[in-house]
Amino acid sequence: MPKSLVIIVPCYNEEAIFESSSGTLLRYLDGLIAGNKVNSDSRLCFVDDGSKDITWELIQNCVAKNERANGLKLSKNFGHQSAVLAGMLENKDRFDAFITIDADLQDDIEAIEKMVDAHANGAKVVYGVRNDRTTDTFFKRSTAEGFYTLMLKMGVPVVYNHADFRLMDKMIIKELENYKESNLFIRGIIPTIGFKSEKVYYKRKEREAGESKYPLRKMLAFAWNGITSFSTTPMKLVLWFGVLNFIIALFITAYVIISKFAGTTVSGWTSTLLPMAYFSGSNMIAIGLIGEYIGKIYEEIKARPRYIIEKDLHQ
Ligand code: UDP
Ligand code: MG
Repeated sequence: MPKSLVIIVPCYNEEAIFESSSGTLLRYLDGLIAGNKVNSDSRLCFVDDGSKDITWELIQNCVAKNERANGLKLSKNFGHQSAVLAGMLENKDRFDAFITIDADLQDDIEAIEKMVDAHANGAKVVYGVRNDRTTDTFFKRSTAEGFYTLMLKMGVPVVYNHADFRLMDKMIIKELENYKESNLFIRGIIPTIGFKSEKVYYKRKEREAGESKYPLRKMLAFAWNGITSFSTTPMKLVLWFGVLNFIIALFITAYVIISKFAGTTVSGWTSTLLPMAYFSGSNMIAIGLIGEYIGKIYEEIKARPRYIIEKDLHQ
């Protein structure tokens, strides 16, 4: 029995590309239904993330003309992650499988069929992974790949070169609902939920019309959010920096004492320099220690689930 699928498409000021993308997606979905890959309850859900252009009017038109198109309008611009989240949570009881994809269709829609197949074979999450970025500009490619490397180094559990193009089973969406944090970094959360996952590889295309809604400023904010939502490494660095300072202070002490006895110092130099070296080291250690506790408080306050059960056999 084929399952029902919803394809969630966040749209922010996408008037230049909406008609062509929605047409392509609708045709593709019809094809999946005709091929018996998904059932006829499947839908597209366009989420207007507070667009300032006529995107919402276009979505309304599309919904009026196509029975397989749904629309959701957010009250203002909440950002890509929130738009995707709204699309998933508002539809949580209506579908068996959820796919999120950007409105510009830079991610190859042909991967959708592979995702649906992997889901039918038991995968609960199917990650779309870019294995070719030759169409991205050098700048976009190197910043994006640097982003994944940095995230992984900091201990954020992202899938390398996977953005938010993925399929999720409805049980994943139910678990996702238990992550109450407002700074939601979805692509970091999904791997922490667990369950069987698969990867589907595809080639990323160029944006055909309109501009990227992710300028460098937003990308940096996004990366920073990802790191601070998952990792207390920056705080630990402060502590280690403090310890390093302290060790340096020991060397400074040796140098200062030797200079003093060699008679090459002016009066007051030794008594000023030594406390400075030690106090700055110990201050930094103290800040790092406080940071450790703040890190713990931060972990607690997010109140993430402590475990997730996959099966429970009891009789
Ligand atoms: N988007 C959104 N809200 C925002 C910014 C972007 O919903 O505040 C949507 C946008 O319409 C697109 C997706 O997020 O569907 C990714 O944006 P974009 O293609 O501009 O990013 P890039 O591919 O350049 O990283
Ligand atoms: Mg794009």
